[in-house]
Amino acid sequence: MDLLKTLVDKGLRRELPTRQEALAVLATSDDDLLDVVAAAGKVRRQWFGKRVKLNYLVNLKSGLCPEDCSYCSQRLGSETGILKYTWLKPDEAVAAAGAGVAGGAKRVCLVASGRGPTDRDVDRVSQTIEAIKSKHEGVEVCACLGLLSDGQADRLRAAGADAYNHNLNTSEATYGDICTTHDFSDRVSTVQQAQAAGLSACSGLIAGMGESDEDLVDVVFALRELDPDSVPVNFLIPFEGTPLGGEWTLTPQRCLRILAMVRFVCPDVEVRLAAGREIHLRTLQPLALHLVNSIFLGDYLTSEGQAGKADLEMIADAGFEVEGTGTTTLPEHRTPADSCGSHSGGCGPCGGEANGGAAAARTDLVAVRRRGAGTDLPPNA
Ligand code: SF4
Repeated sequence: MDLLKTLVDKGLRRELPTRQEALAVLATSDDDLLDVVAAAGKVRRQWFGKRVKLNYLVNLKSGLCPEDCSYCSQRLGSETGILKYTWLKPDEAVAAAGAGVAGGAKRVCLVASGRGPTDRDVDRVSQTIEAIKSKHEGVEVCACLGLLSDGQADRLRAAGADAYNHNLNTSEATYGDICTTHDFSDRVSTVQQAQAAGLSACSGLIAGMGESDEDLVDVVFALRELDPDSVPVNFLIPFEGTPLGGEWTLTPQRCLRILAMVRFVCPDVEVRLAAGREIHLRTLQPLALHLVNSIFLGDYLTSEGQAGKADLEMIADAGFEVEGTGTTTLPEHRTPADSCGSHSGGCGPCGGEANGGAAAARTDLVAVRRRGAGTDLPPNA
């Protein structure tokens, strides 16, 4: 297919595809799916070989959010039955992070629900970052605390944070459909503040919220313009009790086409397979490893993921290898000499554990997290 040859050539040269080419990837047929995966896989291997970076989420503060993001189980008025707790103490967060590191995670993502942190919250998270860094040498820490105010990114950087995550989630044109309490430009501003402070920016999207192909291409092109070091691609987890709880529109094939499109538009960026992979890609998860170079290990913020052991087996069986702490994630041309070397992140209070709308909720597929941080039970890692 001429389209795929063109996209591979551009990806190997780090050249931006046209919008029409990106849209054409999303419009390919299921018959062409393996050709699409193979083509995007060439670009993935050019920049990241067969390495898979593992990231581990620690939900520092769960639920009780005043914002109304319709995809989120932690939103205002949520009736999802998720765990609700206020800030973990630094030693509790260190213990939770340690489980992920022991499981092979190279990056710990510290996430808190809410519109954004107070200065006292930044103090609290700074103590946690310092505690994790002193206990786990070489581990990267990404903070994900919502919208930042002046000076907060600098303080997180000074405390040792390597990265900051804040997702754009969807296109600017449709942002008002998923949230009324903040807007797209607020999110762009926070990503830019993180970059200005020298933090590695992580910003991604959520697919499966009823958006069009044009919306998906819009948000990925907006991300490319922002130039984050990592792009988490979340697939909506339609939680029962949220406005999007019945939004079950994704297929495994659609998910793979979306990941391929993101890889072609952001060829040398850490593309992370994030929330929702288990319930939407299902048995096709291993094919996604040919497109992404990063995944989350274990559970998500408020829902349970695949067992960590199964993730490691999947990576090995598919012929990939877990990236070690001594390896730089990003290609040399994207890695400043004083950086953490990975430039990524990818959580989000805001990660993409959405809720769905029209159809029935699928409580058989979405399991609320009842283990790990905020509970007395051991975590999944
Ligand atoms: S996505 Fe973040 S800001 Fe929005 S409701 Fe959820 S926790 Fe709050």
